[in-house]
Amino acid sequence: MTSANTLTSKPRILTGDTPTGTLHLGHWVGSVKRRVELQSSHECYFLIANMHAFTTRAEQAADIRRDSIEIVRDYLAMGIDPTLSAIFLQSEVPAIAELTFLFAMLLPFNRVMRNPTLKDEIKIKGLGETYSFGFPLYAVGQTADILAFRPVGVPVGEDQIPHLEMTREVARRFNQIFCGVSEHTEDADHVRLGGTFPVPRADVGAVGRLMGIDGINKMSKSLGNAIFIADTPKDVQKKVGKIFTGRQSPTDPGDVNNALFQFVDAFITDSARVAELKDRYARGDNIGDGHVKVEVAEALNALLEPMRERRRQYEGNDDVVIDILRDGCRRANLVAEETLALAKDAAKLGYFARRLTIG
Ligand code: ATP
Ligand code: MG
Repeated sequence: MTSANTLTSKPRILTGDTPTGTLHLGHWVGSVKRRVELQSSHECYFLIANMHAFTTRAEQAADIRRDSIEIVRDYLAMGIDPTLSAIFLQSEVPAIAELTFLFAMLLPFNRVMRNPTLKDEIKIKGLGETYSFGFPLYAVGQTADILAFRPVGVPVGEDQIPHLEMTREVARRFNQIFCGVSEHTEDADHVRLGGTFPVPRADVGAVGRLMGIDGINKMSKSLGNAIFIADTPKDVQKKVGKIFTGRQSPTDPGDVNNALFQFVDAFITDSARVAELKDRYARGDNIGDGHVKVEVAEALNALLEPMRERRRQYEGNDDVVIDILRDGCRRANLVAEETLALAKDAAKLGYFARRLTIG
């Protein structure tokens, strides 16, 4: 059995987003742009991690539901094609929950708690000591989200690398203890040598960590520092105007590694213009932040306008989105149920065939 799939001969990828809000420019440069590039050559599964959203907003179930729908609209706006890629809800793929339980036994508790992304989230989101038991469990769940699809790669932003590392550990451990794969086996050889799971790679986008407009933290849905895909041209201008650099005057030599210049690099497509702006800014050649911001906002609006246009076709009617999710869940369950059956057989849990048919 290879990780290339049984439905098509294309290699598979899986990635997703949590409905703690809607999608922003960080998602585009960190992950979604890459997904759009891969969607013809790969069999793609894009998961809305709606169960995981309950880890931090259980008391806002209606918002989680609304954001799940809006994220699908953002995907469609950004060019994900639901006839090529399966867009699905985590809550409607029960094999993921079953695999989470099994994988939780393969990861030492302290190993999960040492995950630096989890630690950062606890700090940045101010979760203190009061986070739910489900919060660290989501990191285990994410290994199941991924491995349920036996993908070769996972297009993600930089902050997800520790989660991917844990996923790779689970895959190796599972293959070693249940499939007789030796601990000296190279990652690339696990499936060939009888492992159930490939050891998937993180496929980080062109900008692995886009800063937020606060100039301090990574752009994040839940930190109030994001420029959203669905923002209006005016909102974009206003938010770009707020990007914090700390520079005082147009004649101060500026730092071209600041947050504003990360936007220049990521979004102004004319590389000669980027070089010129950097040169003048670094020398303090009478070029104010305000001027650079006008050009950044123009570049962003040029990128976002076709997305706004596509988004409009899907606004107002949730039924179209629900139909896309229903079909995506049907396709996702075919693969995830197959994986679950393989994993249960390997773990001596396969007493008789039990395949759920969903959708
Ligand atoms: P939250 O604030 O709830 O953590 P988020 O904005 O970090 O939300 P996630 O749903 O956690 O978004 O991440 C979805 C995907 O987008 C992941 O692959 C993540 O690495 C990527 N991503 C998120 N923010 C950025 C960013 N600022 N730069 C690059 N990639 C990002
Ligand atoms: Mg995040």
